[in-house]
Amino acid sequence: MNAHAFHHAPMDACPFMPVFGPPAVMFDRGRGTELWDSDGKRYLDFLAGIAVVSLGHSHPVVAESIADQAEQLLHVSNFFANPVATEAAVKINTLLRDATGHNGQLFFTNSGAESNECAIKLARKHGGRGRHTIVSTLGSFHGRTLATLAATGQPTKHEPFQPMPAGFHHVPWGDIDAIRAAVDGSVAAVLIEPIQGEGGVHPATAEYFRAVREICDDAGALMMVDEIQTGFARTGRWFGFEHTGISPDVVTLAKAMGNGMPVGACWARTDVAAVFEPGDHGSTYSGTAIACSAVNAVIDEMQRLDAPALAERKGAHLVDGLRALHGVIGVRGAGLMLGVELAEGLDAKQAYVDLLDAGLIVNAVSPTTIRLLPPLTVSDDELDEAIAMIDDALNVQLHEADA
Ligand SMILES: *Cc1c(COP(=O)(O)O)cnc(C)c1O
Repeated sequence: MNAHAFHHAPMDACPFMPVFGPPAVMFDRGRGTELWDSDGKRYLDFLAGIAVVSLGHSHPVVAESIADQAEQLLHVSNFFANPVATEAAVKINTLLRDATGHNGQLFFTNSGAESNECAIKLARKHGGRGRHTIVSTLGSFHGRTLATLAATGQPTKHEPFQPMPAGFHHVPWGDIDAIRAAVDGSVAAVLIEPIQGEGGVHPATAEYFRAVREICDDAGALMMVDEIQTGFARTGRWFGFEHTGISPDVVTLAKAMGNGMPVGACWARTDVAAVFEPGDHGSTYSGTAIACSAVNAVIDEMQRLDAPALAERKGAHLVDGLRALHGVIGVRGAGLMLGVELAEGLDAKQAYVDLLDAGLIVNAVSPTTIRLLPPLTVSDDELDEAIAMIDDALNVQLHEADA
């Protein structure tokens, strides 16, 4: 069934719950930055499965690692160890030890929301009775499970599911006084993104993150950084917090970690992780060998490519091209996590539709902001091709506005 037929199928013929709206296109093949739909039309994927496919589609090293592991061992449960998960945990702990200066331990999950669930439980156990509140920011996104939805600072998303779990408090993004006022002895942790992703690509300043670190230290609260979208080289550093010079206590990961294999992790400094005891947390699929085979391949390949440097270099090229376009009034973000702010009168949703038609996949994160998250392996030619398509799409709107 092509996407068009799918869209118009009667509701009882659609096998999916209607939470995502009608899909725009049906894809059946991808390679690097390119995708092909079921009619054979080619697209450049500048969304990369929402910052997931950072090494590009069907990466041969990742594909081979998964295929080999599938013939060896998929899963054994957490009553037993497997060498693939141990290797992946050591690799991530090493990356985060280098970035934070602290030894740590991690818990493997299957998604970003589960990584944050683990962090929230860890913070509550660490804080103890009476010190259980999680402070997060307005405009943030932390997941769709009930607790991570409660942490997500978008009240309209809460409304249909009231009552929300208790113990979550939101403060305006970037406001140091507001977060200082909110973080008192009842607060277990601050949960915060280095760059708000779903919220519109809004980077934290180094000053803000340093202030949050200090405020957490003064109050005895944990600083938990949600690196689910920013992690694994996306922003030009291994982790987004590295732009700010702070060292978090807890880091949550997912998205690019498996290049499309559903896998995530909650990492904490060893002294923080130590509050968990056997039985406090778990997941049938935590650290399953097949998922961790993808993680190992992703980290090896990212290290071989020097993925952070790649993201920084490609990002600079993309920003230069975008800033020169009529209709673009600003570009926010870091590395290859970019929000393109359109001039007044231009419509990001319309640009998304026109670009999809032209063969470029982006997404609109606000009425005036397009988000770009291409694979870090994107070529300079593909960047130029995308810039030209965005130029064309914006020019169509500019001319319509003139007419
Ligand atoms: C995507 C995302 C999540 C949720 O991840 P899922 O895998 O969809 O559960 C949480 N936090 C941030 C910052 C994200 O970008």
